[in-house]
Amino acid sequence: MVFLGPPGAGKGTQAEMLVERLKITHVSTGGLFRQAIEEGTPAGAEVREYVDSGRLVPDHLVMQLVEGLVAGQEGRGICFDGFPRTLAQAEALDCVLTGHSAGVDVVLALDLPDEVALNRLMSRGREDDDYATARYRLEVYQTTTAPLIRYYTERGLMARVDGNADINTVARRIDDALKALAA
Ligand code: AMP
Repeated sequence: MVFLGPPGAGKGTQAEMLVERLKITHVSTGGLFRQAIEEGTPAGAEVREYVDSGRLVPDHLVMQLVEGLVAGQEGRGICFDGFPRTLAQAEALDCVLTGHSAGVDVVLALDLPDEVALNRLMSRGREDDDYATARYRLEVYQTTTAPLIRYYTERGLMARVDGNADINTVARRIDDALKALAA
């Protein structure tokens, strides 16, 4: 499963809740990058400047991380949160999963107007959430990641959910969208 949506859309929160219900593994590439930076690992040093400035980590570094994770998850479902973020990553993911006789089953896009996303980011207070960086991350989403909606729509995998509501309402909408897609 893949969670798409602009920064601030609630991907992390909703992914946490969904993996509990579905008993699958939550993979947040952003969370793993932040953890590596905090722990001071070589991988962390490599991605730090990207994460701090809100730029995308280069695809080959992201794929290195993801390939390792997928290899360790044989047979168990994964919910990707914040990945893929580029067309190249989406294609590489298809390739990696095919190699494990698996594939993307469903993609959830949480839609949210930019102003609402910005307000949420400002109140969250993460280090890469200062106004200029948050604006930039939204722009990167619109130009580079949003085209994935088309990629997955063409493959019949896309479910879009209005993320502009409280946490429980959005969780209910996600459940409904998943049911509709499975029907
Ligand atoms: P997130 O926690 O998803 O908001 O990600 C925080 C930051 O980590 C992003 O602004 C990027 O710098 C980096 N990042 C996370 N996931 C990816 C990805 N799939 N591709 C490139 N960069 C990523």
